[in-house]
Amino acid sequence: MKSQTPTSKYKRILLKLSGASFKGDQDYGIDPRAVSYISGEIKKIVQLGVEVGVVVGGGNIWRGSEASVEGMERAVADYVGMLATVMNSMILQSTLENFADVDTRVLSAIDIRQISETYIRRRAIRHLEKGRVVIFAAGIGNPYMTTDTASALRAIEIDSQVLIMAKYNVDGVYSSDPNKNPDAKKLSHVSYMQALNDGLNIMDSTALSLCMENNLPILVFDLFVEDSLLKLVCGEDVGSIIGTV
Ligand code: UDP
Repeated sequence: MKSQTPTSKYKRILLKLSGASFKGDQDYGIDPRAVSYISGEIKKIVQLGVEVGVVVGGGNIWRGSEASVEGMERAVADYVGMLATVMNSMILQSTLENFADVDTRVLSAIDIRQISETYIRRRAIRHLEKGRVVIFAAGIGNPYMTTDTASALRAIEIDSQVLIMAKYNVDGVYSSDPNKNPDAKKLSHVSYMQALNDGLNIMDSTALSLCMENNLPILVFDLFVEDSLLKLVCGEDVGSIIGTV
């Protein structure tokens, strides 16, 4: 029997990659093998014709809130965090292009003209229509925010059908942290309200509220289980979904 070619359920998606996914098994920084792996997984869905936007975090390098606890001015610490996301974005771009042969553009919410384009919504959409992976760098360009909020916002702005939250070592939403509590239960469908009220630790509440107000479904899965992203995009029952259950 002939195997069927997989087809995507979605035309356009927004993938949120936290900085943690860039560090592999290291405590800090960037593991090129992890970035190559991620690029390979993204390529699989690009080959299906899916238009892919990616919001990249920076927590593997710097987190503003942690630095401000040490006494640094919060806004400054946050701008440094945004620059960390630019570094991750450039590395993802280079790896996608050089090792996975995927065409990309980095669009930054902070102007850094020598190394990225400025974020302009209509330009982002045009790149997506041309089949380029659009990497959104520098969050939303404002302190006191996170890249989770940026991912919700960009997903809505570019009219993405879903927001896909890539996790590392957790294959969906659990009733509590499965790495700490062996009795934690996996929840395959979760409502926005349940996620907010129970503090299910999927994303920060600003991001979650934005998704809820705009009725944007959120898919949560483990990126480091091979082919999971492909399966998810093809509509297979992988991970958990947060929406209007
Ligand atoms: N950040 C910010 N505004 C934004 C996005 C990010 O100030 O719109 C800063 C903030 O300090 C944050 C850091 O950038 O701690 C890295 O982003 P984030 O913590 O969201 O990365 P992740 O947890 O996804 O790795």
